Amino acid sequence: MALRFFNTYSREIEEFEPRDAMARPVRMYTCGPTVYSRAHIGNFRAYIFEDLLQRHLELRGYKVHRVMNITDVEDKTIRGAGEAGVPLQKFTEQFKGAFFEDAQTLRIKRADEYPAATDQRYIDRMIEMISALISKRLAYQADDKSVYFRINKFPDYGKLAHFDLTQLQSTGRVKHDEYDKEHIGDFALWKAWDEADGDIKWDSPWGPGRPGWHIECSAMSMALLGDQIDVHCGGVDNIFPHHEAEIAQSEGVTGKKFVRYWLHCAHLLVDGQKMAKSLGNFYTVPDVLAKGYTGRELRYALLRVHYRVPLNFTWEGMNEARESLGRIDEWLARLGELIGTPRRGVRSAQRAEPTSHFEDALDDDLNISAALGFLFESIRETNRAMDQNEMDAASASAWLEWWKRINSVLDLEAETDVSIPEEVAQLAQQRENARREKNWKRSDELRERISALGWEVRDTKDGPKLTRGAGSA
Ligand SMILES: [Zn+2]
Repeated sequence: MALRFFNTYSREIEEFEPRDAMARPVRMYTCGPTVYSRAHIGNFRAYIFEDLLQRHLELRGYKVHRVMNITDVEDKTIRGAGEAGVPLQKFTEQFKGAFFEDAQTLRIKRADEYPAATDQRYIDRMIEMISALISKRLAYQADDKSVYFRINKFPDYGKLAHFDLTQLQSTGRVKHDEYDKEHIGDFALWKAWDEADGDIKWDSPWGPGRPGWHIECSAMSMALLGDQIDVHCGGVDNIFPHHEAEIAQSEGVTGKKFVRYWLHCAHLLVDGQKMAKSLGNFYTVPDVLAKGYTGRELRYALLRVHYRVPLNFTWEGMNEARESLGRIDEWLARLGELIGTPRRGVRSAQRAEPTSHFEDALDDDLNISAALGFLFESIRETNRAMDQNEMDAASASAWLEWWKRINSVLDLEAETDVSIPEEVAQLAQQRENARREKNWKRSDELRERISALGWEVRDTKDGPKLTRGAGSA
């Protein structure tokens, strides 16, 4: 089956045909974090979807060049730095660091480049683009000294969001500076400096000021990936106005189609509700780790639902993630043991062989739920074959090869370089002895002591297994 994705622009499933796929890598731009606070798990759902997309393209033989921007200057970062009383760069630095740390915890592959909006190279590029838009009468400087995009001059404005321009009307109170715009929907390309900005300003032909958020992405995308890119991703929140504005700016300057495929990830809900600090259901990656879960478990929980379906995050879902991973771990261990100690008298009845169903499901607009369905079906079948002594070592290694291949997309394998501390091993042995003596009380106490040391003991068919659990990533 050919690779197909749902394109937000056409609202249709389209076959994936990147530009010059033979000669160049797939050019992919993903809107990155605004570094004014620690990213929450809803943000990471989108980043994990993008990670899945990149890894699947690579599994299918594409080279991918991915750029993710860091928005380190816009209203929220300036306000945050002001309130904290520190320079902008110092303020954003901590959240940049936190973002990379969390991304690593969740095993998100690094992008090839992480351009920052405050880099002078890109500021210059933004100024160049704005000048070009003004000379084409697609932008104007208003009386408030800011520069705005003139949406009435760009007939395609609203095509991504499937939005009627005439619906763009003022509702309620309008900030005083908005009276300076020709149309309520015109968006800022360059924001003139005002006192609240403090020393955060750059020189421009229109006076001191700073770029608008949208032009940052247009300029960095063009600087690093060229006029036309293959894939642009983000969360559904980004569709309007951010991505709509990016199209208007980029195509306004080049006159060429900016993006071939627009892919957007649906929201994350917590217990069926929108995540909000005021509801007490707002979680960051460290919040989830503090509850005793691992990064691998959170990765699985955020990965397992199709990206266009809202994902409902619950603690029960986290426990299910832990269980599912436990099944994978146990299965891999069994296959490994079978290869290590070939059995005699294997009856090769109806041997289950690896198929391409997993990859095929991902070809179909990244249908991860179907793909995982095939994985667990395979685990069930092969476990049954092993139970009945119907699997030989060759077959087991074929399954491990298959796992290696699909795990290049999933990245869900337990860390193997972890050695079990002596103290934990001894406690596990004592617990096993207590279990043999059917002393369940003592066995439970020992499990808790093991857990307090950051380890988890699971009783499997092949005896107790220790994994890194509570409190460790
Ligand atoms: Zn963006």
